[in-house]
Amino acid sequence: MSIPTLPRVFSGVQPSGLPHIGNYLGAFRNYLAMQEGHDAIYCIVDYHALTSTHDAERIRQNGYEMAVGLLALGLDPERAVLFRQSDRPEHAELAYLLSTVVPVSWVERTPSFKEKKRTQPDDINHALLTYPVLQTADIGIYHARYVPVGRDQAAHLELAREIIRAWNSRYGDVFVEPEAVFTDSPLIKGTDGATKMSKSVGNTIDIFAPEDVIRKQIMSMVTDTQRILRTDPGRPEVCNVCQLHRFFGDDFETIWEGERTARTGCVDTKRLLADRILAFFAEARERRLEIESRPGYVEEVLRAGAERLAPLAAETMREVRHRMGLGSR
Ligand code: ADP
Repeated sequence: MSIPTLPRVFSGVQPSGLPHIGNYLGAFRNYLAMQEGHDAIYCIVDYHALTSTHDAERIRQNGYEMAVGLLALGLDPERAVLFRQSDRPEHAELAYLLSTVVPVSWVERTPSFKEKKRTQPDDINHALLTYPVLQTADIGIYHARYVPVGRDQAAHLELAREIIRAWNSRYGDVFVEPEAVFTDSPLIKGTDGATKMSKSVGNTIDIFAPEDVIRKQIMSMVTDTQRILRTDPGRPEVCNVCQLHRFFGDDFETIWEGERTARTGCVDTKRLLADRILAFFAEARERRLEIESRPGYVEEVLRAGAERLAPLAAETMREVRHRMGLGSR
């Protein structure tokens, strides 16, 4: 089996909408940092998106958006592999093979499955239940050790380790036990100030939406709900706007103090945050336009990425099939 010379990294992102600052602060920052000194593989996980969307055009379009977004943010196809999950269908085969050692109770207890049962009660499909097994296959097929993700993925990563241990103990040590890698902001709250920023909740601050949309998203943010009058002192420790300033400027203490002493109002702090977020992503937003002006470029990157991974995926599958007693001797 080929041992990568650099530590291997894998992570996937669903094509379920535009990239938002929760994705960036919680995961993409590490995607970019880990292009250095690692053998990094990043994937647009369109099979996973099918667990919540059955609109073919949306899956395709969102996959493209996510790929352009990552490239614009600095993902460099010369240094890291970017590909679309469905272009390497071995992931699905491996998920099936892994699922044969996974007790149903393990997947039934995943917090994300329980959450989906609540949020999409009319579409509790079978693939939702086995989502973590496919995720294990995504990581395992390339023997990745490090998985940069947000905190919401911690339980999945734990389960991936359990699944890999279960398979390895039955068939031999083929798979590497992966480790989650978090940023210093692994859980960014949404504009509602209450729940995780997420495309599916619709509480995002988008990176590549038109400027007026981004400003509107930020101006709609829930701040400190106990601060009624402009002259009331605020509680920066519970105010999501103040918390986000931590990442988009170097005067966080001043902003904190301004809010705590009522020197500044929520509207001022939001306006400043909007200006800073737009300035922070200005270059990426420019680069996105430039990438979009090159017809076929994104498709070519994704195609080349999938092709580069073909030998690795084939090698793992050969080994797994052999050890599981499939095919001829
Ligand atoms: P979403 O939850 O918006 O559908 P994805 O599931 O596609 O986003 O997440 C892509 C990556 O971004 C994952 O590693 C995920 O853990 C991370 N991520 C998503 N939302 C947040 C958030 N609010 N805070 C921190 N990380 C996040």
